[in-house]
Amino acid sequence: MSASATNPCLSCGACCAHYRCSFYWGETDEVRPGGVPVHMTEPIGPFRAAMRGMSGSQPRCIALAGVVGVSAFCSIYEQRPSVCQNFEPSWKMGTANPLCDKARAVWGLPPLTPETWQDPHLPKAA
Ligand code: SF4
Ligand code: SF4
Repeated sequence: MSASATNPCLSCGACCAHYRCSFYWGETDEVRPGGVPVHMTEPIGPFRAAMRGMSGSQPRCIALAGVVGVSAFCSIYEQRPSVCQNFEPSWKMGTANPLCDKARAVWGLPPLTPETWQDPHLPKAA
């Protein structure tokens, strides 16, 4: 997720309550100052960790705050794992992200569209 005033992720959070978020263990603050808070993670192998809360049948990242589909945000935004930093919402960069679309569908939310990212303050083309 990314965070700006008009970012649709702030009324979504579906991917953070659907996919298991795993990453190289060295991204935690146990290794890298300012990294992912290690107490919010769990080891899933010799070199990998995952955010807590995402391994059950109703996954929800421990760092996700708010209500999915209403108002949601990452409570460790500046420290989130690289896999989260690299997960682009559909059409933010000009293409759909099927994983974003799928997570939203699971939560009953429609896919984002190119129009989602249009600045409402810009004049419309004739
Ligand atoms: S599912 Fe897509 S729109 Fe929703 S929070 Fe994740 S990246 Fe953002
Ligand atoms: S760390 Fe933040 S961005 Fe990553 S899954 Fe958890 S709530 Fe979502």
